[in-house]
Amino acid sequence: MEKKRATNGKFKVFLKKNIYYIIMAICLLAIAAMVTVAIVTSQNNNDLDPGIDAGPGDNVNDPDDTPPVDNPGDGDDNTPPVDNPGDGDDNTPPVDNPDEPIVVPVVFAAPVANVNVIKDYSMDSLVWNQTLKHYAVHNGIDFGGNDGDNVMSVYDGTVIEVKYDILNGYTVKVQHNDSLVTSYSSLNEPTVAVGQTVAKGDVLGTMGVTAANEYLDGAHVHFSLYEDGKIANPYTYLTLGDK
Ligand SMILES: [Zn+2]
Repeated sequence: MEKKRATNGKFKVFLKKNIYYIIMAICLLAIAAMVTVAIVTSQNNNDLDPGIDAGPGDNVNDPDDTPPVDNPGDGDDNTPPVDNPGDGDDNTPPVDNPDEPIVVPVVFAAPVANVNVIKDYSMDSLVWNQTLKHYAVHNGIDFGGNDGDNVMSVYDGTVIEVKYDILNGYTVKVQHNDSLVTSYSSLNEPTVAVGQTVAKGDVLGTMGVTAANEYLDGAHVHFSLYEDGKIANPYTYLTLGDK
């Protein structure tokens, strides 16, 4: 008993002498332990995703782990649009239809070889008629010349009328298409017959002085155009000086 008591007494004395150092050592161990835990914890956070990715059972198809993979043609925004030629969308340029008929514009030739307009087409304003001694509209173009000068069809067509009357003298009418008919008056007796096919430039007759209402204008051809049965402006299809 005495020995044990002596040992306790020595230990108490040791504690009393070194209590400061013992507390300091305990405190240092505690601080070291806290620092170690903090470092290990932060390393774990850097190495592993938080939440479901942590741990060895992490799924390799986890959307957080894999970059987006684009499937071509899946309609998302990752692929540029692919154009199918001829699919009718706006990506292809328009293609002309080679089967479409080509519309040839009607261009008249002059009905005389030497163009000399002595009275112009005038349906908007009155012009003086020296034969009838009054102002009137003029529904055609008068080409002057010498009696017997050739008068030609201004365009391909078919002769649909050959007639004579006192006011207009001999008149030939030629049908060119569904809507266009040309008329040639003040002719000498024509050399063509109704139903005859004529080409542009074919002679229909010769200019004369047969039209009583333009008698004083001398030898000429009174040329006029009908479009869908009505008097029309010949200059729509006729450019003089460009024969
Ligand atoms: Zn006339």
